[in-house]
Amino acid sequence: AVADIGVTGLAVMGRNLARNLARHSYTVALHNRTHARTVSLVEEHGDDGTFVPSERLEDFVASLKRPRTVIIMVKAGAATDAVIDELVPLLEEGDIVVDAGNAHFPDTIRREEALRAQGLHFVGTGVSGGEEGALNGPSIMPGGTRESYATLGPMLEDISAKVDGVPCCTYVGPGGAGHFVKMVHNGIEYADMQLIAEAYDLLRQGLGASAAEIGDIFAEWNTGDLESFLIEITADVLHHVDAATGSAFVDVVLDQAEQKGTGRWTVQNGLDLGVPITGIAEATFARALSGSVPQREAARGTLPAHTAAWEVKDRDVFVEDVRRALYASKVVAYSQGFDQIAAASAEYGWDIDRGAMARIWRGGCIIRARFLNRITEAYERDAGLPLLLADPYFTDAVADGLQSWRRIVAGAAQNGVPTPAFSSSLAYYDGVRAERLPAALIQAQRDFFGAHTYRRVDSGGVFHTEWSGDRSETQES
Ligand code: NDP
Repeated sequence: AVADIGVTGLAVMGRNLARNLARHSYTVALHNRTHARTVSLVEEHGDDGTFVPSERLEDFVASLKRPRTVIIMVKAGAATDAVIDELVPLLEEGDIVVDAGNAHFPDTIRREEALRAQGLHFVGTGVSGGEEGALNGPSIMPGGTRESYATLGPMLEDISAKVDGVPCCTYVGPGGAGHFVKMVHNGIEYADMQLIAEAYDLLRQGLGASAAEIGDIFAEWNTGDLESFLIEITADVLHHVDAATGSAFVDVVLDQAEQKGTGRWTVQNGLDLGVPITGIAEATFARALSGSVPQREAARGTLPAHTAAWEVKDRDVFVEDVRRALYASKVVAYSQGFDQIAAASAEYGWDIDRGAMARIWRGGCIIRARFLNRITEAYERDAGLPLLLADPYFTDAVADGLQSWRRIVAGAAQNGVPTPAFSSSLAYYDGVRAERLPAALIQAQRDFFGAHTYRRVDSGGVFHTEWSGDRSETQES
């Protein structure tokens, strides 16, 4: 046995992770259901390092040093279970099985329990950064046992992205914590992309600017607080010209956004935990709306707008307003995502360090951004921070942009530009900071029709009013 680690599943992601490991001087055992992929990897990239290819899974396992560490990088879902079922009988106590695919975290919880019962370590790990990241340094979010991290962690840290010399990989927490955090990462990615798309639309409709001009604005924004991978690629996309038509590329792309499901999972979990992740939810529904073809056809040209053409008086003021509104909305979306991590951590007993999550998202992954440093700092100041927005830095940052944010949301409403994520983020901000919410009325209604009881502002205990009788109030025991 010579290999330090093995990878089974050598499509784009597995192939690149294996190459990345080999380039970091690890001896990498290789296996894929269809052996041709293994052969082509060694043929094309054999000089990346030392590979030990095997056609049979038995030989693959036999080539691994103990404790054996196997990364599974196959299509998420049934394929992962199929591979685990084949692999497990070949392993021995203390071996480590890593699922680096995009598993749904409840599956990871189930698999971890099953493998733990057999004396194996099962590590569900999030990997973000696509093919490029897998090869050159992804952000890695491993869960499972802390004990397994002693063997696995140093290897994953080696191949992860580095920011200021710090690896974008850390132990996340037990069970499904790693895949959970990856899921929320993707949910935040949905929100971030939707906010950027709304900012683009506002600039387009408010200023009548061309895609390329807006590309210039995004490129400029990428030099400040908003600096991030997504803002950078937005500038790039907006500058791109379609070769076939000579039009701006963005204008020849059909306006229907697809999704693979991680946004939906995040929203479903937000509902389960009762965490208002409105930015992620609006972003997920906005994609759904874009794909609601019959509804859009029925509405287009039929539903009136009752708006005049948008007249922006001062271009520079408007651009700055959009920038500030984008930043403020983004803070809300991230704040909500980190709330969801905190809620899940408490619910499932994971003890996740939110500051560390922001740290490992600074590089390698899709939402990598300068601003994540600020989030890490906020949780370093107060690890139990109940609301990211309540950290002094973020409170001030949002307060600075508040007037801009209100002008933009009001202007969008008045001019019929849909801004679900900008608007709902502002509504969340006003809701969470409200002295008193109309929830009091809802609770009274619930007591009226369903005797669901209520609590009073002026005394403890639970009360009910006899709504259909003499309206006397009784205190429930
Ligand atoms: P795919 O999701 O396209 O999966 C293809 C791989 O799965 C092949 O190696 C295939 O083997 C193997 N496979 C499928 N079914 C089985 C089975 N029943 N038994 C054994 N092997 C099977 O590959 P990707 O590289 O795109 O992604 C791998 C994982 O990484 C997925 O879980 C994905 O969600 C995740 N991921 C992908 C990212 C990306 O940007 N693509 C980013 C982050 C995570 P064969 O060659 O024999 O068909």
